[in-house]
Amino acid sequence: MLKKVLIANRGEIALRILRACKELGIKTVAVHSTADESLKHVLLADETICIGKASATESYLNIPRIIAAAEITDADAIHPGYGFLAENAAFADAVEKSGFIFIGPKADTINLMGDKVSAIKSMKAAGVPCVPGSDGPLGSDEAVNKATAARIGYPIIVKAAGGGGGRGMRVVRSESELISAIATTQAEAGAAFGNDIVYMEKFLENPRHVEIQILADGQGGAIHLGERDCSMQRRHQKVVEEAPAPGITPEMRAKIGARCCQACVEIGYRGAGTFEFLFENGEFYFIEMNTRIQVEHPVSEMITGIDLIKEQLSIAAGNKLSIDQSQVQIRGHAIECRINAEDPETFIPSPGKINQFHSPGGLGVRWDSHIYADYKVPPYYDSMIGKLITYGETREVAIARMRHALDELIITGIKTNIPLQKKIMADEAFAKGGANIHYLEKKLGMGGH
Ligand code: ADP
Repeated sequence: MLKKVLIANRGEIALRILRACKELGIKTVAVHSTADESLKHVLLADETICIGKASATESYLNIPRIIAAAEITDADAIHPGYGFLAENAAFADAVEKSGFIFIGPKADTINLMGDKVSAIKSMKAAGVPCVPGSDGPLGSDEAVNKATAARIGYPIIVKAAGGGGGRGMRVVRSESELISAIATTQAEAGAAFGNDIVYMEKFLENPRHVEIQILADGQGGAIHLGERDCSMQRRHQKVVEEAPAPGITPEMRAKIGARCCQACVEIGYRGAGTFEFLFENGEFYFIEMNTRIQVEHPVSEMITGIDLIKEQLSIAAGNKLSIDQSQVQIRGHAIECRINAEDPETFIPSPGKINQFHSPGGLGVRWDSHIYADYKVPPYYDSMIGKLITYGETREVAIARMRHALDELIITGIKTNIPLQKKIMADEAFAKGGANIHYLEKKLGMGGH
């Protein structure tokens, strides 16, 4: 096993990683910005190092400082969490070249999956179902691009190969809009991602977002932990996640899961990862792979009993997977509500000091969060301050528990989206299950694409 892990992140995920390390007897190093001295995991870590100013570019995104912190503390591995440098191939490379273990896949794999065009190409080759599309980057020949769009059939979506965070995409409903849409997306992508390569996909009108969690050891072993439904989104940001996804049969799960595992073996994937799909009319369409632990990983943990962070640490230490597919048993249902420090109506971030704080509890209730009374939510980072997860033998029980857990959760001094989450948990369509990715925005009166 690893002896000392440096946690290159902040907030709830840093605490989550610290907890897994403690359970395994691994020492921890917390690196933090000047704004984060009082973060819960910083107070609990074996060693702490301030790596820079509040601005993420000067701290959590500063590669030389994080590596220097690992050198000073003699850590043997670095866990990137999610966000920040988690999918930065240059960081993974620098970590390994400096003699540390990167808790995640190889830099080459991050590069392969970070470019959506190469990701789709390798997934197609591995037999993973993809959205019908241009099968590669678009060139500058207008006639060819028009013919490609006509072959796919309108509406289509023009997407940036280097896009992320729901940016760099444009829906095109007719040929008259096509050429200017390609040019605009290219220009935006060049400015935002430093890569102006774009491609084309069929635009699916009413899909759900269903993703498969995998674990692979990079030594020929790969298993899947079933799927999660993350269709409750606002501006492409997930708001509620659940596992399993309503309506997915064990046969469908086994089939798509096996394809993902096969793809992991073919690309030599190492670590935890997620295959994201759009799901429409009973079919899965791959859109991208996330080469890191995800915010919503707890719902998969709850229904399988597998601790994903501990598995990440074990794989990083060079161990083969300790479980095979037949040992992964899906039982019950889990739901996660993301709790954000934001106005529940306007969604404007609401940083500041938390006055009162009471966490919910009881059977089947899990609260993953770094906040406490008197903690000051800094304005510099993501507004998510916690994740409330409930588990039950059935989806109905998980929802009932979420309703009372949201009632019990008290955070004063700042605004939070708890009222919005209560509304979703009281919503009839949510209770039915299987709403599509546009449902929440329509409910909020925002309109979709
Ligand atoms: P990002 O990396 O920016 O998250 P994704 O490729 O994962 O980009 O797409 C983000 C979201 O955009 C999806 O969850 C979905 O809502 C929408 N989207 C992307 N591709 C399509 C498509 N072909 N049809 C319909 N919606 C799409």
